[in-house]
Amino acid sequence: MRIIKLTTLIIIVSIIITSCSGNAGKKLNADNESLLLSTLYQQKSAEVVALSYQAYNIAELRLNQILEHNPYDKPLAIIVDVDETVLDNSPFEAKSILENTDYPTYWKEWCELASAKALPGAVEFLNYAATKGVEAFYITNRKVEFQAVTMKNLEKKGFPNVDNAHMLFRTIESNKEPRRQKVLQSHEIVILMGDNLNDFTDLFEANSEPERLQNVNDLKAEFGKKFIILPNATYGAWLDALTKGQPEMSKKEKLDFLTKQLESF
Ligand SMILES: [Mg+2]
Repeated sequence: MRIIKLTTLIIIVSIIITSCSGNAGKKLNADNESLLLSTLYQQKSAEVVALSYQAYNIAELRLNQILEHNPYDKPLAIIVDVDETVLDNSPFEAKSILENTDYPTYWKEWCELASAKALPGAVEFLNYAATKGVEAFYITNRKVEFQAVTMKNLEKKGFPNVDNAHMLFRTIESNKEPRRQKVLQSHEIVILMGDNLNDFTDLFEANSEPERLQNVNDLKAEFGKKFIILPNATYGAWLDALTKGQPEMSKKEKLDFLTKQLESF
């Protein structure tokens, strides 16, 4: 009898705690519902953690191979993107879902917190590279107004090369090629890491979905060699490419359009 009463009490307390905490009771607006699974995948799946370790482990293997027979005269550099490559912005996506808002709403607030977690393996790998004299350059499409808070975030997490010389933020254009060329003036770029194909080469700038696929097939030998990609199911050029050339759509129209892109049998 006492056991039954105790069990009942635990259940009641659990219900109260659950309903008072976090996001219980929040009703998702259908507009942002499509982000739910992709954000949970990024934020909660151990698979994403494993993929991140996999990416940085491969990067270390490649770096060791290169250092063993380094044919370059110039100092070596590794290019990393920031968002969803070294820093995890899934709490921003979660906020967008729960408040039914879109980028850039809350983006400034999120960046200014400077509290994004480091992606698993990133800090360790880039510090390892630093011990070998290989510098990291951070080429990101975060706007330059967020450079100081991003540097604060990177520094807090223990990343190396957190100084103005190694930060190449977005000023006038999102195409990263001119910034890669700038690094190439003084360094040999041996590895590029990103969650978006245009983190690697401008062949992927503003391409349609079939063109992107073709370019990946053409460049297949580079993946896991010079180009190392991390997973991002929540946003990116892959999603923009699906709607490329379409007229302006409401969220509902976009969802309908995307549903039609599914390949069924
Ligand atoms: Mg990114």
